[in-house]
Amino acid sequence: MEIVSEILGRARSGSKAAEHPAEESVDVLICGSGSAGLACALWLAIYNHRFGGTSLKPEVNGSSHGNQESLTTRPVTYRILESRDGPLQLGQADGVQCRTVEIYESFGLDHILKDEGYWVNEVSFWAVDQANPATDGDGATEPGRKKIVRTGRAADVQPGLSHQPHLILNQARINGLMLEKMKALNGQDVDYGWKVADIEVKKNSNESHPVTVTSEKGGTKRSIRAKYVLGGDGAHSQIRRSLQIPMEGDNSNAVWGVMDVFPRTDFPDFRKKCTIHSEVGTLIIIPREGDTMIRMYFELPDGTNPKSVTLEDLQKKAKDIFWPYNMDFCTTKWWSAYSIGQRVAKSMVDDSGHIFLAGDACHTHSPKAGQGMNASLQDGYNIGWKLGALLMGQADQSILNTYIQERHQYAQQLIDFDKYWAKLFSSEPQEDGKKPTAEEFNQAFIKGGLFTAGMAANYQDSDLVANSISDQNLAKKIVVGQRLPSAQVVRMSDSKPFPLLKLLQSDGRWRILVFAGDVDDPATLPSLDRLGEELSSERGLLRKFTPAGMPADSILDTLVVLRGDRKTLEFDQIHAAFKPNLDDMPITNLHKIFFDDESWNWGHGHVYETLGINPRVGCIVVARPDQYVSAVVRLRESAELSEWFMKFMRPTNN
Ligand SMILES: Cc1cc2nc3c(=O)[nH]c(=O)nc-3n(C[C@H](O)[C@H](O)[C@H](O)COP(=O)(O)OP(=O)(O)OC[C@H]3O[C@@H](n4cnc5c(N)ncnc54)[C@H](O)[C@@H]3O)c2cc1C
Repeated sequence: MEIVSEILGRARSGSKAAEHPAEESVDVLICGSGSAGLACALWLAIYNHRFGGTSLKPEVNGSSHGNQESLTTRPVTYRILESRDGPLQLGQADGVQCRTVEIYESFGLDHILKDEGYWVNEVSFWAVDQANPATDGDGATEPGRKKIVRTGRAADVQPGLSHQPHLILNQARINGLMLEKMKALNGQDVDYGWKVADIEVKKNSNESHPVTVTSEKGGTKRSIRAKYVLGGDGAHSQIRRSLQIPMEGDNSNAVWGVMDVFPRTDFPDFRKKCTIHSEVGTLIIIPREGDTMIRMYFELPDGTNPKSVTLEDLQKKAKDIFWPYNMDFCTTKWWSAYSIGQRVAKSMVDDSGHIFLAGDACHTHSPKAGQGMNASLQDGYNIGWKLGALLMGQADQSILNTYIQERHQYAQQLIDFDKYWAKLFSSEPQEDGKKPTAEEFNQAFIKGGLFTAGMAANYQDSDLVANSISDQNLAKKIVVGQRLPSAQVVRMSDSKPFPLLKLLQSDGRWRILVFAGDVDDPATLPSLDRLGEELSSERGLLRKFTPAGMPADSILDTLVVLRGDRKTLEFDQIHAAFKPNLDDMPITNLHKIFFDDESWNWGHGHVYETLGINPRVGCIVVARPDQYVSAVVRLRESAELSEWFMKFMRPTNN
């Protein structure tokens, strides 16, 4: 997407060039502090905080670790180079999909988004009134014009898709939260004002840091050697250009305008998300946080040169679309006009396997389906934990291949969805020469909900998605390769209710969720005992990958979910493997046993039913550190799981 006009103020002074050595070596160099770069950076801070201490000392022309890391508690060293003078202040994306809110929940930040953001609960559809003569608000007619009327309302998010809402909040704040969290975890900041100029990689070399990135700030040059580089430097990515990776797809003719305005209007739905199909064009309203500002997106006529568009053009167009309602603008906070490119990079990785692209650097689409920021952030979220696990010596380098496999496929799906979405919104007829009716549009909008909620990612079989050992029938509503669906469970220790997904915090740990079955079934506790014995045995899953001296749940965190009346069970009936000591104290952790049961004041989550698990059979669900499901196996199949983990996890030599 090419942004051609902005009336934004920017600037904030960043760090001084002199604070940085002219040459240094780091594990990871991130180019760009947008949503993609920051999501990856935050993961590295999380891995450092949890596994590597917090003192970050880059190795100056560092020592060799080779491509295969040995198990280490040394912090991952990383730098984030950003050409802007300071953090993003305003503008751009604002739609925070349910899935992105879930990710923020896993970072412990969702409450801020929910407090500050606009909640998109309902969407209101408006279209040309075909039946009635055109009159304006005072009943006056305008010959030859048809007015707009409300044609329907629907839930914005399909009920049951997520326990989190779809929100609207500006990207500056969304990025800022990740930035603050990263700084709080390991003191790392972004190096502002450093523009990446070039990147070079030594192919087929055994060098520990084969990539060299050159950057510049106010005439000062800097060279950083890195093991891995993430190009999160936006739609005009210098990294992608240096690697000569082409973008594939097309720059469509569609030109869109966007304005953040404080409206004075008699249009009744301006505080709802609306799609408006008028005779003179299509417009989308996205209400903004803070109760008064709204964003308007609308398509401009084919052939419009975005560079020649003025604010007055946009305001006139909007007024026309709203007719017969009045639409005046008290203030316009921000506006832009741009043409839509629906394109994906040919590859998200260079030939050496050390340089990756993420976000707009490798896929661009129109903003109206609210995908760009979310998809970019989720790219960074996908690769970040994999780099963390690799560089901490927990996993093999092969897991990086799954980043490309998973996110390139998703990017392609997004482009297909975006094309479909763009046509749906377009005022031009479809291929068959017809325009969708209002009803067809409303239905198609609802169908697209999986994408607009950010729930459409379905990762295929790979080292990290084990369809081969999974039996989907054990949990009919969990899809291996998708993020774990959620429902409420009640913690046995203190009767506190939790959404299941909230238990899967982004802290770098894998989750072994043991759905042991009905507590009143005489077979349940013996089978849980047997599993506890297997998991904690010398060759068992838990000990195999956890270094001696670290708490038993450091790498793989086991959570038990039983069904039935929690008051009938005592903790001493539960195997010790499910009650390891706390991280930092020799105290038994009782917080890992949950029930599918009525809570005192918060209802019943029916998690077994929601996930399609038969309580007489049960199952083990393995969730990756990013909450995607890797496997669903029988309770007696922990040995198979252990073998599967060996494909990419590094066993300890305990
Ligand atoms: C008007 C508008 C509205 C949008 N609305 C939405 C929406 O509602 N929902 C949604 O999901 N998305 C929306 N988007 C898209 C969204 O903003 C982008 O998809 C998203 O910002 C991409 O994130 P990113 O991290 O990949 O790139 P960016 O956010 O572009 O970040 C890239 C960073 O890299 C830096 N950089 C660039 N070159 C260099 C270099 N050579 N050296 C160092 N640093 C460099 C840049 O300064 C920037 O900070 C919108 C975009 C626009 C323009």
